[in-house]
Amino acid sequence: MSGFVFNEKPIQIEEGDGVWLSDDAGNEYLDMGASYACVPLGHRHPAVDQAAKSQIDRLTYVQASYPNAARTRLYETLADTAPDPIDKVWLCNSGTEANEAALKFARAATGESKLVATMQGFHGRTMGSLATTWKSKYKKPYEPLAGDVEFVPYDDPEAMRDAVDEETAGVIVEPIQGEGGINPASTEFLEATREATEDAGAALIFDEVQTGMGRTGSLWAAQESGVVPDMITAAKGLGNGYPIGATLCREWIADEYGSHASTFSGGPVISAAADATVSTIVEEDVPSNAAAVGDYLRAELEATLGDEVRDIRGEGLMIGIEVGRGAMGHLKQLAMSEGVLALPAGRTVVRLLPPLTLTEEDADHVVDALESVIVE
Ligand code: PMP
Repeated sequence: MSGFVFNEKPIQIEEGDGVWLSDDAGNEYLDMGASYACVPLGHRHPAVDQAAKSQIDRLTYVQASYPNAARTRLYETLADTAPDPIDKVWLCNSGTEANEAALKFARAATGESKLVATMQGFHGRTMGSLATTWKSKYKKPYEPLAGDVEFVPYDDPEAMRDAVDEETAGVIVEPIQGEGGINPASTEFLEATREATEDAGAALIFDEVQTGMGRTGSLWAAQESGVVPDMITAAKGLGNGYPIGATLCREWIADEYGSHASTFSGGPVISAAADATVSTIVEEDVPSNAAAVGDYLRAELEATLGDEVRDIRGEGLMIGIEVGRGAMGHLKQLAMSEGVLALPAGRTVVRLLPPLTLTEEDADHVVDALESVIVE
């Protein structure tokens, strides 16, 4: 069993429907994190599931050098919806793989090797991505990793300017750190990072595995700061629950990406699901709901819990509540007595990452649940 066990008596999640989950005993839970930013449209979204089912009836696999129609549609949708001038797409199967590719592409396109990453950052667990991940607990047993990584304090423009030099291939940054505790970067930091990478000829990678797909109130968090990186990586919510990752690039990266490939890259079924996911998010303006309900939820949390907790922060429906060392206890109690499933971020933060279709009524339910657990 990996990760966090949120309940003393083991539960088996059997069914999902929108923002709700139910277990084998018929108990219902509001999903404020059990789907981990992977289901932006809610569980069992008909457009996504139907797209996958229809594709299964037509074609499930063809080798990647033979274009398949579903992949071509997904390429076009991602190129159309990525911030200009990002319009090249590399597809894979997870977030760590999307970052692994981005780090390789940065080295190939620049001819340099040094990578710069941020303290408390998280980018995945394969050897390259792991080398840019901060926490030593995740790295120690597997060292040596891909060397030549310099870590700078997150959200420190001066430290970033000092770290990026002529030998830098790439800088990888989360616009809001997820695993690190829901830490939003200032626009000043992102602008300084953009300027430093541009001056040094290095590639700037935004890891949007957790922030992307509308969670922060725009399809990409990059669109909120106005800072356009050279690459954006996406995964988690990109397939509304089906496994897929993507590395979106500017042309200068795609022109010199080296030689990189993966057998299941852009498979027809996952491509159909992801295309339906992105298209539905855009057509139904789901990011606006994330922004509105996120603002509402944060304001209500502030009014109800502001005096009880250390901090409430985030953007859209990516919210962290700093409760101190009691985070795990609160999460267990939320699950057991209130039927709300959330996630920890580190030891001190309760993290909310619900489907982006959450309503104000659902938000009220969460505030009541947190109030009874934290205040009472
Ligand atoms: N980057 C970020 C920002 C993440 O939050 C995660 C997963 N928590 C990853 C990368 C790795 O994604 P995956 O687990 O799909 O490899």
